[in-house]
Amino acid sequence: MAENLPDVDTWRERLLALQHEIEALADSSAESRKPVELDQASVGRLSRMDAIQGQAMAMASQRRRQDELLRIRAALRRIEDGEYGFCGVCGNEIAPARLALDPATPTCVSCAGARR
Ligand SMILES: [Zn+2]
Repeated sequence: MAENLPDVDTWRERLLALQHEIEALADSSAESRKPVELDQASVGRLSRMDAIQGQAMAMASQRRRQDELLRIRAALRRIEDGEYGFCGVCGNEIAPARLALDPATPTCVSCAGARR
């Protein structure tokens, strides 16, 4: 196998950079995920609905970021285990072009396609 192994250090760096980026985003949006105040006196009904909607959207993107962080951490673990770049389902090599698009992807194109 091994002659076409991806350059693990490069991928590790990219994954770590992605991880930092997401963590920074999560920090900066922490404010908008705070529970909406129930103070009807200072906030009109419409703006309260806006606030709730905004909070729900912030929560949803936070969940997406958490999922992404989990994938990135799993990919970093695979690097440590020497399994990075191989499909977690069939064990075949993941195409470098696919890794370039999504360095945290755990499966090859055909397995990702088979799951939908
Ligand atoms: Zn596969």
